[in-house]
Amino acid sequence: MPELPEVETVKNALVGLLLNQTIEDVFVFREKNIKPSLKEFLSIKGERVSSLSRKGKYLIFHLTNDKVLIGHLRMEGKFFFRESEEFDKFDLIVMKLSNGFYFCYNDVRKFGGLSLYHESDYLTASPLAKLGKEPWDIEKEELHSLLQAKKKTPIKAAIMDQSVLAGLGNIYADETLLAAKIDPREEAKDITVEECERILIESRRILEEAIELGGSTIKSYHPQKGVDGMMQNRLYAYGHKNEDCPRCGFPMHRIEVGGRGTTYCPRCQKRKKYPFTILLTGPIHSGKSTAASFFASKGYSLIDCDQIVKELYTKKDVLKSVKGILGKKAVSKGVLNKQFVREKLGKDRNAKKKLEAYLYPLVKQEVLKRLEAIGPKQKALVEVQILPGSGLEDIGDYNLVILSSKESQKERLRLEGKPAEALLALNKDWPERKARLLSSQIVFNTYPEKEISEKLEELTYLFD
Ligand SMILES: [Zn+2]
Repeated sequence: MPELPEVETVKNALVGLLLNQTIEDVFVFREKNIKPSLKEFLSIKGERVSSLSRKGKYLIFHLTNDKVLIGHLRMEGKFFFRESEEFDKFDLIVMKLSNGFYFCYNDVRKFGGLSLYHESDYLTASPLAKLGKEPWDIEKEELHSLLQAKKKTPIKAAIMDQSVLAGLGNIYADETLLAAKIDPREEAKDITVEECERILIESRRILEEAIELGGSTIKSYHPQKGVDGMMQNRLYAYGHKNEDCPRCGFPMHRIEVGGRGTTYCPRCQKRKKYPFTILLTGPIHSGKSTAASFFASKGYSLIDCDQIVKELYTKKDVLKSVKGILGKKAVSKGVLNKQFVREKLGKDRNAKKKLEAYLYPLVKQEVLKRLEAIGPKQKALVEVQILPGSGLEDIGDYNLVILSSKESQKERLRLEGKPAEALLALNKDWPERKARLLSSQIVFNTYPEKEISEKLEELTYLFD
């Protein structure tokens, strides 16, 4: 999606062929992409384009007779000129100009468009009325009080909120927070005035550089037909999952914040309340506990989600809810009936889902509580049997996946005198593909045990 620098670049590219041209004719091929009504919109016919401006991600065309057109490109909208009437099906709005060119709004996704306003009301009507100030026009104290009002909203989502700060989207929000050394998950209310100053200084610098380089060409954005922006080569966070941080060399970590893919450096962007956190996952008997002991020997505090679940099952209110979900037999004499629960979950997928939807948030709450108790400037390792879908995916700084071949798992279980086939059957539904996608590092555990410690020892950046 185009952000402030891309829209500024588009604006500058349009000026040459658009300025002082009279709109001789108007073709609206899709009424949904114009506002207010077709009849009113067509009144731009005969007007001249007197100037172009921009606010946030909005393009503003000032016409004669105080008419104003506001354009928003949304996902993949584009403005360009055609030399003849050879329109394509994504040319939604076309204006024939007095210089002979056809000025087209083209949108494959059809989310953007043009709205007609008046000079006297376009700034006070939606959408511009709600638009916040751009980073150049706001003081750190004002940004600070706006962020205070956003309370627990993650700082990344807060600075992307166009009513707080106009112009930053997903890409430049990641870049700004990396440069300002602020974890994207930090709650808006915890951001200090001094950090607001860093956000403003860095966002201004990054946006200015991006404007100078013509924006970032990622997927479909092109400032002009056949022209690429150059800023994508100067992005250090966006798109650099698992690559070395350009400042400290630590692997960049990708999580989701407010539903948006987010890449940050866990070392440069440390959290204020929580320790550096590794999430450790892997199928049963892949060697997770060996890995956990290894990290404990390196000074990591351990949190085991299986243990948390066991503790939850001893609580009266939890047992009551479990009974409500799985039926009366799930609890007998105030204790969880493990065998019944195991059998019920094995054959009833729906019940399993319901139980997970109830338990996972409780586990997450407890994990966060324990991480907070461990505190910042420390290291913690959270062991979780199944990471994808657990709700814990985005709480760590590094996701370590331990995998093991069936043969070496079998060998290990055989030597421990355990029933290999039955135990390995528990791994049948383990979501390996999803776990790989979330991983910062995959370690293959082959027999014998000591090899896993040797492999982990190589991940030196985790022990500084
Ligand atoms: Zn770094």
